Amino acid sequence: MSNVEDFLSVQEEQEIIAAIRKAERSTSGEIRVHIEAHTDADHFDRALEVFHLLKMDNTRLQNGVLIYVAVADKSFVIYGDEGINNVVPNDFWNSTRDIMSKHFRQGNFKQGLIEGVLKAGIELQQHFPWDIDTHEDELPNEISKS
Ligand code: CA
Repeated sequence: MSNVEDFLSVQEEQEIIAAIRKAERSTSGEIRVHIEAHTDADHFDRALEVFHLLKMDNTRLQNGVLIYVAVADKSFVIYGDEGINNVVPNDFWNSTRDIMSKHFRQGNFKQGLIEGVLKAGIELQQHFPWDIDTHEDELPNEISKS
């Protein structure tokens, strides 16, 4: 599987976007998903690059999280902004990563993304609760592709 368009159907994308909306209802953190086929770059470096390209470093609390997936490379990275890294332990994303890995290994890409997004929301909630006074949807929930 190397074509990004084959990776998720329109319906599946909508389900993932719904998961992002749901996750963001419990936290001020902002979650985005970016999917591409392949990169020659190191995956972590590429995730960082995409994070900046999507202007995810512009959130008020610096609590954006990018779930970056390189489909053909069978690789993904969960990258959180400084505001998160400053207050969480180093293994903060391990549980989210493990859930996603489990589903991806079984070929359940949509379910892996949905459960990863929801788990990220739950983890973020502990440190960045939803705030009714200041909350706004700072970053688009649509899936980004390249
Ligand atoms: Ca959002």
